[in-house]
Amino acid sequence: MIPVTQYNGHAVAVLGLGRSGLSAARALKAGGATPVCWDDNEDSLSAAEAEGFLIANLHSKTTWREHEFAALILSPGIPHLYPEPNPIVKLAWGHGVPVDNDVGLFFSLFTGHWNSLETEDEPWPECVAVTGSNGKSTTTALVAHILQAAGKNVEMGGNIGRGVLDLEPPSKGVIYVLELSSYQTELARTLSPSIAVFLNFSPDHFDRHGGRGGYFAAKKRLFEKSGIDRMIIGIDEPEGCFLANQLRQDADEGHPVTAMSVTKSLRGRGWSFFAQEDQIIEWAGGKELARIKFADMPALKGLHNQQNACAAFAVCKSLGLTTDEISTGLKTFSGLKHRMEYVGRLGTISFVNDSKATNVESAAKALGAYQNIYWIAGGQGKEGGLDGLKGDISNVKKAYLIGQSAFEFSRLLGDTPHEIAQTLECAITLALQDADADEQASVILLAPACASFDQFPSFEHRGDTFCDQVLALINKDMR
Ligand code: ADP
Repeated sequence: MIPVTQYNGHAVAVLGLGRSGLSAARALKAGGATPVCWDDNEDSLSAAEAEGFLIANLHSKTTWREHEFAALILSPGIPHLYPEPNPIVKLAWGHGVPVDNDVGLFFSLFTGHWNSLETEDEPWPECVAVTGSNGKSTTTALVAHILQAAGKNVEMGGNIGRGVLDLEPPSKGVIYVLELSSYQTELARTLSPSIAVFLNFSPDHFDRHGGRGGYFAAKKRLFEKSGIDRMIIGIDEPEGCFLANQLRQDADEGHPVTAMSVTKSLRGRGWSFFAQEDQIIEWAGGKELARIKFADMPALKGLHNQQNACAAFAVCKSLGLTTDEISTGLKTFSGLKHRMEYVGRLGTISFVNDSKATNVESAAKALGAYQNIYWIAGGQGKEGGLDGLKGDISNVKKAYLIGQSAFEFSRLLGDTPHEIAQTLECAITLALQDADADEQASVILLAPACASFDQFPSFEHRGDTFCDQVLALINKDMR
């Protein structure tokens, strides 16, 4: 755990006692502050109380009069502005109390106290922060894996695995590798990694950011502070092009922007990384510096994973790794659960769990990566609807529709064979019957293009349900 020392001797309000809220409360306490905690959920309150935290109703004006809060620390699940600011956030505004989150606390230490401790023997730690609409977790885990495989001391966390304040305090040569969501970057008061990555941009979470522009602005904040050594920016969408152009100081090599693309060949004067014909190419000063063949990388199927690999290549090169070290790390990466995860096989039928495909863009990537697909889709629809999928269903043999959006999907699919299965269990059974009757090799793919909350507590739970049922079928089958 990283003790947060900047509020030593002060009371700090902590709202939301899930994973990141509790870890912020622990870190504040360890740094000498008095966290005063609240959550509208009784069970979370009891858990915090059992851990010995001071509990007070932050909805009550009396609480705000009794404590002179130095800050309010908010969990990412609690809206701070859109669609409606939480009433406790409004109270903080009214009392002139700064609102921040665990990520802001981390970076305030990173750029402040830790910076001042730097000596020749104990260099300032490096911090890589990854944002984007899709591929953040994969890229973050990939960067961490490549660095670890090359013998580096890595602490990975943020929106993946451990919360930022649950990581270990700086030790010699440590590299923090953080995944940051737009909720986190929009609120954090300090954001200043040494290497910042913007992977891509597509519609998501518009309700929490007041629309497309607000969502982009939330991501863009990661790049706004000075002191970032390297900014690696995916320029496959206009937002990335705009950001890279705004940050670029001149057209030559020395500037801190490194562009990357999987749709364009970037053979300019700057330092760039791009994917072409199943290879990733590093380019600088008008010539090719290195290339890695996209072969023998079983966990990185599809063009979208080439984008993630481009970003990881750029990050690790910026940190001084050799092309060979990076290539080895890419080959030995085992992938993440619920992201195009191969579950098993029954004869010529493969099962793939892409439950994390919670929006149209990410589902389209999986649909493009396989042939002859029996596709399980649906759930709770997202902003922008499902229209974006129209062009991407040519590999779909038949679709099995579940959850709230099943009828919207049915309209969208038109002549493409499909049926309403309603539940995941039923969809698997129907898909297996059809795939079994197919003479060609096929894939039963769960890539819902929707959130899970209408039928499951989380996308992880939905993916685990799929895997459990599939593995039970495989174990029962004696073929
Ligand atoms: P995030 O953390 O941004 O949600 P993940 O790595 O968890 O991203 O992947 C989420 C979903 O998006 C998965 O279905 C995955 O297959 C897909 N995906 C992964 N990388 C990309 C990318 N670069 N572009 C689009 N989709 C991606």
